[in-house]
Amino acid sequence: MSKETVHRVQAAWKKDALIDDETYLAWYAESVRDPDGFWGRHGRRLDWFKPYTKVRNASFEGEVSIKWFEDGELNLSHNCVDRHLEARGDQVAIIWEGDDPNEGRKITYRELHEQVCRYANVLKSHGVNKGDRVTIYMPMIPEVAYAMLACTRIGAIHSVVFGGFSPDSLAGRIVDCESHVVITADEGLRGGRKVPLKANADKAAEIAAAAGNPVHKVLVVRRTGGAINWVDGRDVWLDEAARAASPVCPAEPMNAEDPLFILYTSGSTGKPKGVLHTTGGYLVHVSMTHQYVFDYRDGDIYWCTADVGWVTGHSYILYGPLANGATTLMFEGVPNYPDASRFWQVVDKHKVNIFYTAPTAIRALMGAGDEWVRKGARRSLRLLGSVGEPINPEAWEWYFHVVGEGRCPVVDTWWQTENGGILIAPLPGSTDLKPGSATRPFFGVVPEIVDNDGAVIEGVGAGNLCIAQPWPGMMRTVFGDHDRFVETYFSTYKGKYFTGDGCRRDEDGYYWITGRVDDVINVSGHRMGTAEVESALVAHEKVSEAAVVGYPHDVKGQGIYCYVTLMEGEEPSDALRKDLIAHVRQEIGPIAAPDKIQFAPALPKTRSAKIMRRILRKIAEDDFSALGDTSTLADPSVVDDLIANRQNRK
Ligand code: ATP
Ligand code: MG
Repeated sequence: MSKETVHRVQAAWKKDALIDDETYLAWYAESVRDPDGFWGRHGRRLDWFKPYTKVRNASFEGEVSIKWFEDGELNLSHNCVDRHLEARGDQVAIIWEGDDPNEGRKITYRELHEQVCRYANVLKSHGVNKGDRVTIYMPMIPEVAYAMLACTRIGAIHSVVFGGFSPDSLAGRIVDCESHVVITADEGLRGGRKVPLKANADKAAEIAAAAGNPVHKVLVVRRTGGAINWVDGRDVWLDEAARAASPVCPAEPMNAEDPLFILYTSGSTGKPKGVLHTTGGYLVHVSMTHQYVFDYRDGDIYWCTADVGWVTGHSYILYGPLANGATTLMFEGVPNYPDASRFWQVVDKHKVNIFYTAPTAIRALMGAGDEWVRKGARRSLRLLGSVGEPINPEAWEWYFHVVGEGRCPVVDTWWQTENGGILIAPLPGSTDLKPGSATRPFFGVVPEIVDNDGAVIEGVGAGNLCIAQPWPGMMRTVFGDHDRFVETYFSTYKGKYFTGDGCRRDEDGYYWITGRVDDVINVSGHRMGTAEVESALVAHEKVSEAAVVGYPHDVKGQGIYCYVTLMEGEEPSDALRKDLIAHVRQEIGPIAAPDKIQFAPALPKTRSAKIMRRILRKIAEDDFSALGDTSTLADPSVVDDLIANRQNRK
């Protein structure tokens, strides 16, 4: 097993900890023993128009029905905006950092309130009612926050589609949730390049109409001023309409279980699922995790680098932080534009205290070299977070030592679109950190590791990760297909929510995500998570990124096939290949020694930047005809290149 360095909770993190270890243990025990009492108390962190009298009414059996705070009424935009006006109306709610470093804006809570009301009135004037679905296909500009919050204000259900998706993918998501209104921008701007959002939306509308789902209104925000086509009667300039609309719009009282948004999963393992979240439990969960996992304090400048098109953007750029009255930074650009020091320039410029990003970005920046990090002072940073994939211990250590200079705890947060918010993560004032482990469950979260027959594994062990009890922020259904919901998440192991992820529990009760269960490799009867072998490869000084899959092997059943991306400036060679094999042998053991290594300039990733191992598996098996759903692939040319160069596998 690879080394498990423990980073003890430092005195500085313990000092005035929001949650010290004693509190964590006491609260956790209560949250499991008495969920009604625990969440009944913490649910009151929100403003309720009508207080709830019931807390939990949920079952993972049979038809699966999940309800929290079911007789309470509230409104998300009221909680994220209006209720802060009195105490912090002039505080900045959103710092917007443009793609171009010279472009930016700051929006106070008062301004946010006005814009959200105007947007809500525009939506109403175009016939959008409570319960209607609105598709949002926008760049990372403050207007996307106005649009999302405006939907929640009037009870419309938003479905945000990442601006990097193609017209086909956008159309599929419009049709799936039967939405007839699309909010978009003329063009987006990322890394200095224009993204033709309106043109894509036009094409998507055509495809959707042909599929029997016409788009009646396209509301367009001006971002670049570039030339676009215009359909009279259908298209509306949203910024103009908003300026003309009333700045007053009461927030609609919503039942806690009224649908809030639909969001499609990343599509790493197959066709994306239309995950439906509701209002009350979701907001309680995201605001509470945002406060405790990120150790959020009043006045902190908080930056999550995700795109709002992903659940991380929904929960931890907007709703969690805004519910807590935070100043949240929204970044339009990419980590390597104008150069690889951009993140740290932005951190210094806005004195960011809390920084939350993904392993893919960390590995890429590690590959580019430390000198880019050192271009920024980073003195304001107090906490670092990671989400989206297992973070390899090597990348964790780099993040901790180079980016955080050993001062900042790293919180590795494990969760899924389906979960609404963070489920497993350290609490910085209480949990000793182990690089590569998401550590311990959040309040109310009961992880269970089960074997393939569904038997629960207690204590130290590895297997399939399930969650045994309902939690407030979890999804309620797959939109329009409750059977798929039950089938996907509750049929593999009866009475439990199955995550699809593999997991190991160590002697301290810490959880280690070992990768997707579908990706587990079985070598001569030994089951191995892809994450472990990948981490061993990434621990080699010349490797920046690695993806590992199984392929049919005459003797072993499955062999280990490794795709390896090298650090900037390193060259592939047979000697290096041998060195890597020896290195993995030494780190994990002979059983994990790679059978084949293919040097790859880049790995296929989803548009949310996760490695798509299912495609790599097909290439390893020489089965190129059945690559499956590739619509969520960020750059299809990467796959062509891997196929063309597979002869360099040895
Ligand atoms: P799909 O469900 O469509 O295949 P997806 O699972 O990638 O796509 P998301 O909901 O965006 O969609 O991602 C959740 C998954 O990401 C988790 O199930 C897990 O595999 C991985 N993940 C997220 N955070 C972590 C983390 N901190 N450590 C390990 N894995 C993580
Ligand atoms: Mg998933």
